[in-house]
Amino acid sequence: MKVVQQTIGISTRRRCEMADITEQVAGIVEESGIQNGQVTVYTPHTTAGITINENADLDVVHDILLTLEALVPAHRAGYQHSEGNSDAHVKSSLVGCSERILLEKGRLVLGTWQGIYFCEFDGPRSRKVIVQVLGE
Ligand code: ZN
Repeated sequence: MKVVQQTIGISTRRRCEMADITEQVAGIVEESGIQNGQVTVYTPHTTAGITINENADLDVVHDILLTLEALVPAHRAGYQHSEGNSDAHVKSSLVGCSERILLEKGRLVLGTWQGIYFCEFDGPRSRKVIVQVLGE
């Protein structure tokens, strides 16, 4: 059993956006030389997330962000967090801060239309994504 861990740096440009990091994750897997096992993609931030969804039609990303915006308004009577970014914290918890992807014969087991996304909810900022490859 081997473990390889690397960090990806991401500079986001908007308050809310989804950045496709599939190729970067696949690159870390390839460099690791690990063929079978699993990959954990994790972001150590409270106002960001990691998700897997369609990366063919970019309108899907647009619609996900639009829906999160409708579900979790930026300003709402009753928010108490003094930093003023409560919506970003709620979106982070809804989306989650990690995903685990299976690894088979050196390849990420993703569906044809699936990509791995870093989700920014309080940008623009410099962010980190930690990728851990575990297997043999
Ligand atoms: Zn905050």
